[in-house]
Amino acid sequence: MDAGSRKNWAGNVTFRAADLSRPATVGQLQALVAGADRIRALGSGHSFNDIADSPGPQVSVEALPPEVEIDSAASVARVAAGLTYAELAVRLDEKGFALRNLASLPHISMAGACATATHGSGLANPGLAAAVTGLELVVADGDLVAVGREHDCFDAVPVNLGALGVVTSATLEVVPSYEVSQRVYEDLPLQVLDGHFADVMAAGYSVSLFTDWRAPRLNQVWIKQLAGETSKVTEAPWFTATPARGQRHPVPGGSPDACTQQLGVPGRWYDRLPHFRPGFRPSGGAELQSEYLLPIECAVPALHAVAEIADRVAPVLQICEVRVIAADRLWLSPCYLRDSVGLHFTWVLNLDEVLPVVTLVEQQLAPLGARPHWGKVFTTSPQALRESYPRLKDFLGLMARHDPAGKFRNAFTDRYLGR
Ligand SMILES: Cc1cc2nc3c(=O)[nH]c(=O)nc-3n(C[C@H](O)[C@H](O)[C@H](O)COP(=O)(O)OP(=O)(O)OC[C@H]3O[C@@H](n4cnc5c(N)ncnc54)[C@H](O)[C@@H]3O)c2cc1C
Repeated sequence: MDAGSRKNWAGNVTFRAADLSRPATVGQLQALVAGADRIRALGSGHSFNDIADSPGPQVSVEALPPEVEIDSAASVARVAAGLTYAELAVRLDEKGFALRNLASLPHISMAGACATATHGSGLANPGLAAAVTGLELVVADGDLVAVGREHDCFDAVPVNLGALGVVTSATLEVVPSYEVSQRVYEDLPLQVLDGHFADVMAAGYSVSLFTDWRAPRLNQVWIKQLAGETSKVTEAPWFTATPARGQRHPVPGGSPDACTQQLGVPGRWYDRLPHFRPGFRPSGGAELQSEYLLPIECAVPALHAVAEIADRVAPVLQICEVRVIAADRLWLSPCYLRDSVGLHFTWVLNLDEVLPVVTLVEQQLAPLGARPHWGKVFTTSPQALRESYPRLKDFLGLMARHDPAGKFRNAFTDRYLGR
């Protein structure tokens, strides 16, 4: 986030929020929330739309004590909401624990990432919020409330769009720490996916496909495997793709130094599952992003639908990434009750040129049941978006009960959830 001019990470959203507070204690945060008419939490500011903006002030939990308390018997860790995944991962790993999966970048805050249903890839890996077993949040009257899986409405809370309160900590499922290695393959004809999408995505624990849509091929396939996992890929050509001979960056022209180690060298889970290393600006750096989550069985038709408009997509695209995400039960998760394929687009940083193409992509993917990523650029109509979430009304009911005055609402929630 650009602290001087109060913009999001990409610089395409200038926050209207009057100011940003960083309370150092939960007590201070409670007083702040209790005394505000309108207030919203801001994470690390990596969302590409106005979801984190506020008609009143914004508040960050990054200055709260960075606690990480591990209950090894229960395989959970209670962690401070403002920690980034980069910080959290190292703290867990020091104690011999890990998370099941990570997003492509570790720079994002835990609470902000979960709030928008951020995900990585993997047929058996749901989004990051699915690891949450409990949350503590400061609600509208300033009370600190704990919610756990034993509560009826729990599945509404991990993916909350910042609309239920300010999360101060979460309890996350953890697993014993592990090692991962990744290999990149290059030049896989797109038509291979017609008959082998499931095989390709099953080639590792987490698989990402990259295409620039300038030709009917995948420029790169990133395969992340657990140490000890039976290798389905080798040094030899694989489905006619060839193994990369050096480090690669998924965005053409990007420096491989910004990326996690490849070439099959094993390393810690948090040093391989994200594509990008914490000390570097991730991805293209100057960019916008959109992403659509569809039922996994629509993966191949969705790729064909985008291929039909490749000549419109390619000129404003840096790279497109295809991932798979396991279903979860979280009401506002785009993967709610459906194993999903994610079609992600890293665009050039030019909203005027990109928006018409975003709309075109949406027109192509809408018949297949696409739901946009909450934290990225989309033009899906509020009505279509609402209709695609069967538990949205229940979520609104929860908001109305716990925040009748709409303290945590903003223009984004008014637009997409309804007033
Ligand atoms: C380069 C790049 C790569 C990305 N890669 C991926 C990826 O691999 N997979 C993916 O799914 N997404 C990806 N994203 C999107 C990103 O994960 C989401 O935008 C995510 O929400 C960012 O987290 P944040 O901490 O920056 O949240 P913000 O953008 O700051 O906030 C997002 C939402 O979280 C809420 N929030 C934040 N903190 C709290 C809190 N303490 N309590 C309650 N609500 C809170 C805010 O109110 C807002 O509604 C990427 C983004 C970028 C810039």
